[in-house]
Amino acid sequence: MPEAVERALASAEFRDIRARDRLRSLLQSDLPPRLGSPGEGFGPSAVFAQPPHDLPALLRLADELEQLARREAGERALVWKCASCNARYAVPVSLVRPVSIRCERCGTPVELSAPHSLGEESLIDPFLGVVNTCRRELAVFFREAMARGWPVLVSEGERPGAAAAGGDSVRQ
Ligand SMILES: [Zn+2]
Repeated sequence: MPEAVERALASAEFRDIRARDRLRSLLQSDLPPRLGSPGEGFGPSAVFAQPPHDLPALLRLADELEQLARREAGERALVWKCASCNARYAVPVSLVRPVSIRCERCGTPVELSAPHSLGEESLIDPFLGVVNTCRRELAVFFREAMARGWPVLVSEGERPGAAAAGGDSVRQ
């Protein structure tokens, strides 16, 4: 599982367990997945969800993923720059109070008030941005699968070359 996908599914639930844990248990239990590989470079697959039985739960998961993405993308900060040395200061919008500080780097006073700011920007780091993209794409994919009546399968990517070394395939 790529780290971003794992993180995307970590805080969302599917049938009362974390979606990530369900994925892990399907792929990493003692019983290997029973179904075939979906394509070159992937191991055998298992059913994550199947309509119509899992349809409501999967749609709830899609909702939850979108809500998480919205909530985490929504945090914004006001940004200032020290006029002398260009050091940047950012404060979450909800915590902004007009106050004057001394620049940590050069000691010049910096007015941390909204009119003096350079404007708003997202507080989200680039990795969390990728996680949120995963959440949205998974939500779209889950909805489409359920609308078409397709089961959702999971499988792991196999690291090229690892199989030759150990005889066993090593999984990401
Ligand atoms: Zn400065």
